[in-house]
Amino acid sequence: MAGKEFDIVVVGAGILGMSSAYHLQKNNPKKRILVLDRFSGAGQGNTGRSNAMFRNTFTSTDNQTLSDTTISFYLHLQVNQNQDLGLEQIGYLWLMSDRQLAANERHVEGMVRNKIEIREYGRGELERLVPGLRADFGESDEEAKILKLDRVAGSIFGVKCGRLDPDRLIVFYRDRFIGMGGTVAFNTDAVKLMIEAHESLDIEGEPFVWQEARVNGVEVRGALEGEIRADAVVMAAGAWNNELLEPRGMDGHVKAKKRQLFSIPARNDPSLVNLLYTKGFNELGLLPMVILPKAGVHFKPVRIADEFWVACEDEVNRPFINVPDHDLDAYTAEASFYDRNVHPVLKGYFPQFRNARPKRMWAGLYSYNTLDYLPFVVPRDGLILVGGDSGSGIMKGDALGRIVDSAYREGEESEAMLYGEVPYRVSKLGFENRDVEREEWVI
Ligand SMILES: Cc1cc2nc3c(=O)[nH]c(=O)nc-3n(C[C@H](O)[C@H](O)[C@H](O)COP(=O)(O)OP(=O)(O)OC[C@H]3O[C@@H](n4cnc5c(N)ncnc54)[C@H](O)[C@@H]3O)c2cc1C
Repeated sequence: MAGKEFDIVVVGAGILGMSSAYHLQKNNPKKRILVLDRFSGAGQGNTGRSNAMFRNTFTSTDNQTLSDTTISFYLHLQVNQNQDLGLEQIGYLWLMSDRQLAANERHVEGMVRNKIEIREYGRGELERLVPGLRADFGESDEEAKILKLDRVAGSIFGVKCGRLDPDRLIVFYRDRFIGMGGTVAFNTDAVKLMIEAHESLDIEGEPFVWQEARVNGVEVRGALEGEIRADAVVMAAGAWNNELLEPRGMDGHVKAKKRQLFSIPARNDPSLVNLLYTKGFNELGLLPMVILPKAGVHFKPVRIADEFWVACEDEVNRPFINVPDHDLDAYTAEASFYDRNVHPVLKGYFPQFRNARPKRMWAGLYSYNTLDYLPFVVPRDGLILVGGDSGSGIMKGDALGRIVDSAYREGEESEAMLYGEVPYRVSKLGFENRDVEREEWVI
């Protein structure tokens, strides 16, 4: 296949690459589109290692739109199209201190204005509804004092939020893409972006600075070898975008950072089982995703396995990685990180986790846009860059795929049509005419 020409090559078969490929093939049925990935299948990068939660409770209106329309599409697939994505609307319960409630008042007003469905619970209601929650700390509680645990003053509950199965989601996009005539190539590493002069004079060393340059394909190694020419290259390599962009003097404006998940079995501990099956928040009779007021420590119930998955914001002293290792197993989860960082906060608010130790743990990479924490979609000179999802790419995956397609067909000034007939101007997520508010609720 190498040496062959495609209209579009998508580098990366994670959620952003596969959703882009699906929408591109759907709206450009005659175009020959290739998705390539260095792993042996789709979704084996950070998509497969994620917590796979979704929420529309963001502070930025743009993030609300990207996630809300994406969630609606996933719900549509599961409810109307019989496409079981393992989607469960358990909700997100943000427990907040007095200070956090006050600081977020305007954000909550914004969500209500934008018709994001939320409910507010006071401390008393939470104590009644959530088994074992310690919402206040006595004067003599030395540990709470040392950890500076604030009392829970209230909470914001996001209704249209929950979890899904990322493998099933990716299979949906992959199979539909292939079904429409798209091509996939796994075990194939894109090693270089090819660049040519737009109007070549056939002189060695082109493109020169006085020529217009454009990306015209990728060099590949592995199952495919050689040069693959294309009119457009979609860079959807996630945490690895910099690796191909930077040697060509392009900036992806993303930085990767390790993130870890710890799975805590509940089955043999009645107090944890009781917590897992908390009633009153959703129709499933399950505890929602809970975000604690300290360090972004959060946990969700996984009912098929009777366990909790626990994680936290990991900002302090955790290095950024500019070009990550190709092997994600190079990033291991650390039991000591759970013991010394996560567990003290967790058991501070929920004492029933006192003896809880992880049975399994794993790590992956967040791909941060450190400026405003919103994604990028940037069409420029034969390249369409998509990334910067800052730890919430699955819940915005469908919208971003539609925006990539609009960028390809009609350029940066076009309006993409997101699910539910919601128009969205592509340039809002670009570099030059970027028009978004910084996101404040990043976990
Ligand atoms: C621990 C953790 C928890 C998370 N929780 C959530 C969550 O609850 N909800 C949510 O929405 N998001 C979550 N995320 C973030 C989510 O995983 C990402 O936003 C999403 O997976 C990004 O998708 P992607 O397609 O950009 O990246 P990836 O899934 O990493 O895909 C990129 C692909 O590109 C391929 N690739 C890279 N370079 C090359 C190359 N040169 N040649 C060939 N192939 C290449 C890789 O092999 C990879 O398969 C979490 C992430 C982590 C790590």
